[in-house]
Amino acid sequence: MKVARSASKMNDSIRLEPILIRPGARFICGGDGLCCTDIHGLGPITKTELRAIRRIDRSGAGYDEDFDDLMLRTEADGGCHFLMADRRCRVHAEFGPEAKPLGCRQFPFFVTATPEGARIGTYHRCPCRSLGTRPALTVEAALPSIADPRGKPLVNFSVEAIRLEKKKTIPFAEWRHLEIPLLEELNRGRIPEIFREIDPFPPLRRGGSYIRFAKDLIASRDGTRFGAAMAWVGDAILNLLGERPARTPHRPWADAFDRAELRGRATKPERVLTDFIADELWSLRWAEKYSFLRFRADLATRLAIIADMEARLRAEGARRDRAAAEAISIMEAIAESEHWTELVPLMRLGAASSASSSEPARKPAEKTVQTKQTKASKPTKQTKASKPTKKQRASAPSKEAASGRRTRAAAERNALETSLDEDLMDDLSEGLEIEITALV
Ligand code: SF4
Repeated sequence: MKVARSASKMNDSIRLEPILIRPGARFICGGDGLCCTDIHGLGPITKTELRAIRRIDRSGAGYDEDFDDLMLRTEADGGCHFLMADRRCRVHAEFGPEAKPLGCRQFPFFVTATPEGARIGTYHRCPCRSLGTRPALTVEAALPSIADPRGKPLVNFSVEAIRLEKKKTIPFAEWRHLEIPLLEELNRGRIPEIFREIDPFPPLRRGGSYIRFAKDLIASRDGTRFGAAMAWVGDAILNLLGERPARTPHRPWADAFDRAELRGRATKPERVLTDFIADELWSLRWAEKYSFLRFRADLATRLAIIADMEARLRAEGARRDRAAAEAISIMEAIAESEHWTELVPLMRLGAASSASSSEPARKPAEKTVQTKQTKASKPTKQTKASKPTKKQRASAPSKEAASGRRTRAAAERNALETSLDEDLMDDLSEGLEIEITALV
């Protein structure tokens, strides 16, 4: 999650009012507790937040070598140091919500500023968001989590115009005409044709290999919930690409979904899925970085992986809506990590896609896009965008001197990062023509 920033640093065309909720979005925190565990990193936190947390409990937070940042501490069971047996937050219970670090207060919300107002989006790697009886989300309910002390939304993403593909950027008002029927169809429980017609697993540039990617995910498991999610996604990819039948790894998050399942009647799994897609589209997080075309290829690939995991969860006896919600959470944990965000720019758009049949026969790639997992590559409740990541710092001379192995890894990553921007632009130039007429 990108750090929230104040409105003063934004472009003039961006507006923070009105605050907008996607029609159909539903949420209430049911206290399932998953978001306070190692399904993602609990931090980073600021120095001020560190001091405040340590005044409450000196063991509650500190420098984390793996993340190379200030983080809340987790216990042996993977839960936050402050997560109590009844799954309430001790900081919140004893000192009020404002005593929690910003990332904790915000989750699962985030804000995308647009020329038409501030959109409140929600992450779905939390069963409170996707299962059980939930009231319609309102601005009033979300505001305490997403606003600064003056009541202004803190912005995580901002989008002025929408790039459909290279050399095809449209004003935001025009995008709204394209977006509205898509959101309406999703709200009716149907996946629009424009998302169904694109093949998953488009070929990767630079020798990238989904199979190598999947094997690296599986090999990088570390005993955390995030590590289990890596195994699930890796297995799904291998299964989809015909590499081997999928297994069903451990589900250390299952207790949170057990609780969520008891909070209401079953819903149609299609609704769980279309609600997720609608939020992905509505959030416009992708538009800060990618074209709509790349978003579609990325989403198609994630949906294929979700469907594979959902089928396995159902085979294990999971209720149908729960299987969909659980598969979405697993996929989102990986999709928000550097593992996935470094993969998406390598997707070659417009080329013959659906590597599902061709990939296993391809020559093993010389170079993998995947790096070994570090905790820093996990998604976090909060990420301070202005602060260099561990990866960026690893390339600094002082750090390089500390470890030859780390230096080589950093140099390789930097070379890859430099080439990514060029690749992205090349990809976009080969992009498929979007059939706008199908949208309006
Ligand atoms: S401090 Fe944050 S992560 Fe820890 S229990 Fe409280 S809300 Fe959860």
